[in-house]
Amino acid sequence: MPSKVEEVLEGQRKYYKSGATRSLKARKEILRKLRRALQTNENKLYSAIYADFKKSEFETYATELALVYHDIDEAVSKLDNWARKKHVTTNLLNQPASSYIVPEPLGVALVIGAWNYPYYLSLAPIVAAISAGCSVVLKPSELPKRTSAVMARLINENFDAGLLHVIEGGLPEATELLHQKWDKIFFTGSSTVGKIVYKAAAENLTPVTLELGGKSPALVMASCDLSVTVKRLVWAKFLNAGQTCIAPDYVLVDKRIADEFIDRVKKEVSKANYDTANDNYVQIINERNMDRIAALISRNKVVLGGEVNNVLRTIQPTVLYPSSADDAAMQEEIFGPVWPIIPYDTLEDAYAVIAKSDKPLAAYIYSNKKSEVDMFMAKVSFGGGAVNDAVMHIVNSHLPFGGVGASGMGAYHGEEGFRSFSNYKSILDKPTWLEPNIKYSPYSKTKFKWIKRLFQWS
Ligand code: NAD
Repeated sequence: MPSKVEEVLEGQRKYYKSGATRSLKARKEILRKLRRALQTNENKLYSAIYADFKKSEFETYATELALVYHDIDEAVSKLDNWARKKHVTTNLLNQPASSYIVPEPLGVALVIGAWNYPYYLSLAPIVAAISAGCSVVLKPSELPKRTSAVMARLINENFDAGLLHVIEGGLPEATELLHQKWDKIFFTGSSTVGKIVYKAAAENLTPVTLELGGKSPALVMASCDLSVTVKRLVWAKFLNAGQTCIAPDYVLVDKRIADEFIDRVKKEVSKANYDTANDNYVQIINERNMDRIAALISRNKVVLGGEVNNVLRTIQPTVLYPSSADDAAMQEEIFGPVWPIIPYDTLEDAYAVIAKSDKPLAAYIYSNKKSEVDMFMAKVSFGGGAVNDAVMHIVNSHLPFGGVGASGMGAYHGEEGFRSFSNYKSILDKPTWLEPNIKYSPYSKTKFKWIKRLFQWS
């Protein structure tokens, strides 16, 4: 007897083969229906995520739902353009002919989500997959269990399982899903699990997008506008209690301004009033992460915060100063509200610290000198980032979002999302009224001379 997973996959294969996802009109209708379903159930979505880790309506809307709505609206309005056949130049050797590239959906896709922005990281890949004409199975993260349940109910009650279906669960379900043959796997999560996903995908040569993590640095130069720098950095670090894949994991700050930087961070944190009691701050997702993050706090370096509350499941914004590359917090992605601040003497020292970690998902430089920014771009390889800001690049859907090396492969958002679930067919389209003999045998010196010329001119 087929398992539930096999049954769903079989249903999706049938549905996809029926051609039901091919019409652009149908795709737009599905996307609009998803938007309506989310809007109608917004209150349930807010309550579930609040119950899971005290994420407020404000943050749930601003960092999750608004982005999903934007993705849907953008896909609906731009789909005709994204999906159209695009003509390209035909080289001389192939004349007369026309050449074009035409996208087709990859087929049946598996999306595996992470827990930290559970709605956005599950639904944004779905929007991309649907817009590209795929059918999709989503496995959300099991950690925020109410959030996972509310998405499963909302989607499974509103959509044909052949088109879009949620299978909830943890390791056993994820493992069974990964053992099936998919046409695309889109994974968001840790680099460790990313390797498992990549290996499973390799068995069937399934294309993957891996949205992973890493230690994203922020380099603060003496030339920066310190007041704006600190304001933006503090917000980016402690948003979602530091549980953000592109949070500025640690800071490298010029020694000459380091003390002032720390003073300003203290004031900014105090102004922000991070507190679960007033819904300005979220909980740590679970006990395991509480313990993991708490173990990264070198007590002798705490200059702010440091309070770990296992009853409330919170860790206060914690600043470690002066930190060094050898500290516990510098040995792994922190993914929590603990912030090592490393003062540097020379830029060489600063770049040496960055080079110790794998290529990060994001990197940030705060500087008002073009030469400093140019050097940063030339020296550091990373997925995406910002100059004089942090995190906000994620909300520009014109910027493809993804990592490099250990922080991932492939990208999405906007048209790039559509691309990640599409196969681009390259077509040479030739009329039959002319067929020069030049490439055919028997070969001759004259033909050879012409072949050489044509290749040179092409
Ligand atoms: P995780 O890798 O533990 O889990 C992600 C998903 O994989 C979950 O759905 C989980 O159920 C599933 N999973 C866990 N073990 C598995 C296994 N052995 N086989 C198959 N599936 C398995 O990651 P997480 O804790 O949910 O998220 C934290 C990590 O994700 C951080 O490293 C963070 O930087 C990264 N992240 C990246 C992005 C991005 O967009 N690049 C976004 C959010 C989080």
